[in-house]
Amino acid sequence: MSLIDPTILVIEDEPSQIELLRYNLSRQGFEVRIAMDGEEGLQTAIEEPPDLILLDWMLPNLSGIEICRRLRRNKATREIPVIMLTARSEEGDKIRGLDIGADDYVTKPYSIKELIARLRAALRRPSASVTQNRLSLGAIEVDLEKHSVLCGETRIKTSPTEFRLLVTLMQSPERVFSRHQLLDMVWGIATDLDTRTVDVHIGRLRRALTSAGGQDQIRTIRGFGYAMGVNSC
Ligand code: CA
Repeated sequence: MSLIDPTILVIEDEPSQIELLRYNLSRQGFEVRIAMDGEEGLQTAIEEPPDLILLDWMLPNLSGIEICRRLRRNKATREIPVIMLTARSEEGDKIRGLDIGADDYVTKPYSIKELIARLRAALRRPSASVTQNRLSLGAIEVDLEKHSVLCGETRIKTSPTEFRLLVTLMQSPERVFSRHQLLDMVWGIATDLDTRTVDVHIGRLRRALTSAGGQDQIRTIRGFGYAMGVNSC
């Protein structure tokens, strides 16, 4: 999140909703950009990454789900918080929405006050610091170029898959990822691997990190997935 006014990209096709959001978000000090369909939204997000995306579920051409998937697969946009706007009748799809990488969802008709509270919460989420191809979280340091992992002074060996898994978790500290999301992001969408594959690799990664004398920083969210904390290892 930048020090200047945070930029919110609104991907929404209903003019009345757009006006409502533009008016209220600007009043709260946000810089607002509008995209009226999925293709345009995706392109804007990639070219000028905003601090947060408000994404309507029902859009012409490209659905909100598909946009969210593509945002999560693109390097330029994978860390941008996404809040989905859904109509009440689509509530059954909520879980699916979260499973494809949305950070939160708000059901229409929503109160602007509630929306802004959720939006501020999503913007406050800590992010790992990335400096010159290095990613650090607590005592763990990853060199993205050399594919090396340090825990304190100890160098840790990881397989390419474990490395991608670690980087994915570290890029969004405290964010809860479902097993399906991790399969999608680490192994790729076309995979038909069982979600237990994720558990196996998480287990290996944990052993590698703790064998270096560190605490277990990967949290298991029962029945859902995993998140990585900011405590040092
Ligand atoms: Ca719509």
